[in-house]
Amino acid sequence: MDMVNSIGNPLASRKVCVIGAGMAGLAAERELRREGHAVTVLEQGGDVGGQWLYDPRTDESDPLDAAAPVRVHSSMYASLRLLGPREVMGFSDFQFVPPRKSGGGGTAPGRDRRRFPGHREVYLYLKDFCRSAGLADAVRFNTRVVRVAMAPPRRGGSGNALKWVVRSMDAGLWKQYTDDQMTEARCVEEVFDAVVVATGHYSQPRLPSIQGMGDWRRRQLHSHSYRVPDPFRDEVVVLVGCGDSGMDIALDLRAVAREVHLSAKSVEAAMTPAMSKMLARHANLRLHPQIERLCEDGRVVFADGTGVVADTVMYCTGYCYSFPFLDTEGRVTVDDNRVGPLFEHTFPPSLAPWLSFVGIPRKVMVPWFFEAQGRWIAGVLSGRWALPTEEDMMRSVEEYYRARKLAGVPKEYTHDVEPHKMYELGEKYCDFPRTEDWKRELMAIISRNTSDDMETFRDRDDDSDNVRKCLQKWYGLAEHQAQDEDPAASSSAAQATVHSSL
Ligand SMILES: Cc1cc2nc3c(=O)[nH]c(=O)nc-3n(C[C@H](O)[C@H](O)[C@H](O)COP(=O)(O)OP(=O)(O)OC[C@H]3O[C@@H](n4cnc5c(N)ncnc54)[C@H](O)[C@@H]3O)c2cc1C
Repeated sequence: MDMVNSIGNPLASRKVCVIGAGMAGLAAERELRREGHAVTVLEQGGDVGGQWLYDPRTDESDPLDAAAPVRVHSSMYASLRLLGPREVMGFSDFQFVPPRKSGGGGTAPGRDRRRFPGHREVYLYLKDFCRSAGLADAVRFNTRVVRVAMAPPRRGGSGNALKWVVRSMDAGLWKQYTDDQMTEARCVEEVFDAVVVATGHYSQPRLPSIQGMGDWRRRQLHSHSYRVPDPFRDEVVVLVGCGDSGMDIALDLRAVAREVHLSAKSVEAAMTPAMSKMLARHANLRLHPQIERLCEDGRVVFADGTGVVADTVMYCTGYCYSFPFLDTEGRVTVDDNRVGPLFEHTFPPSLAPWLSFVGIPRKVMVPWFFEAQGRWIAGVLSGRWALPTEEDMMRSVEEYYRARKLAGVPKEYTHDVEPHKMYELGEKYCDFPRTEDWKRELMAIISRNTSDDMETFRDRDDDSDNVRKCLQKWYGLAEHQAQDEDPAASSSAAQATVHSSL
């Protein structure tokens, strides 16, 4: 890469703090280091992987206290398999190829060669990526960031006066103490030129407000705390919400529970072909409208007047964006799941580029989108690329909000990015390579198959001829790579450039 920008000025190296070593934080770290920045990644967990680092423990706080700090980060349940195939879930130059076969021709122990593998395979892949890109040395594990705030301006300081004070503490201690007990003595403070927030948004439960919730004495939990079906054996369970998690957990539970009742905001909208097939196949699975009230005697009454006596109500109602550590003096707020203002979901205009976010958008192809965001942030911080003025960025954010409102999109879906917008970011701002056309086509096929049949979409083989041809090539290369590897090495450590070969 050139070490000067387009007008010949040398690129600057900044001291950057990335918060979080999940998929987004790792993507950002790599791009920042490639650009020559000095990067420190602060991660509260003991390993990389974020959500993909399965944790059998669950939060012990009151499940109905939406403000309670989340102490267990991952919301993954044991049976979870990917919604998209591995071909579209790899880093641009480090594809998510199936792991090498063992000596006897089977799968290496602990690995999962399926096209839609389980969560552990993604975690192992992220570990491989981290090792291959040499990222671990900059990650400080077991370090919880408890405060990020602007440093007071230095007297007589010149140039970029805005710096950030990042306060962190041992994550083990953080779990033991309440917020009031966190004295400064237990914390470490460091100053950085820039902070990149990559803390994810699938941990802090979002709860509905239902009459009688507070008085219902039976079990209530959010899907954040669901791990395995066994504790629900022979129970009558009501699941609130029919999104990916609701449908997936219903299928997990129906094998052990007596009855599983799904409750949807709109039965009409929930009745996709996938839902009708699920209901036809499993007699103990039913669909209902929204819950009207929960009664003290255990009855759950739905909006159409019908009801069931349930043992458990589980809220599969999604998650909230939450940045309890971030003090921007009100310049970045979270309102009804809108984090803003953020230019292209990444830079708060009045603090750009010194504060940025990677991983806010939903419904994007990852890690590809995170890599593009990371490269953009890295290049803006070095001076390779310039951002529009603060006023122009604000105008763009407001136009975006207006357009979404006109299109009837509720505020809570601000960060659901439309596919064409997602693909645009890399090309528009940072010369990031396009995703291959066959992968885009594949994503569209998978999305169609998912709404057709939730139980079989992972095993279908009805790709278009073009996708099939490209897939064959992709898998051929992957197999070739895996066989070339040193058997003692990690299954996919010695990656070649699959991306550029297709
Ligand atoms: C049940 C479930 C199923 C999913 N299935 C899919 C799927 O099939 N396909 C898909 O593409 N995506 C799926 N996702 C979404 C997936 O989480 C994202 O794709 C991606 O992993 C998000 O990465 P991230 O790095 O932004 O966040 P995370 O993976 O959440 O990582 C954030 C990291 O920040 C750390 N952190 C947070 N706060 C602090 C702090 N204060 N101090 C220090 N460190 C901190 C966390 O410990 C964590 O390691 C699923 C999510 C869930 C919950």
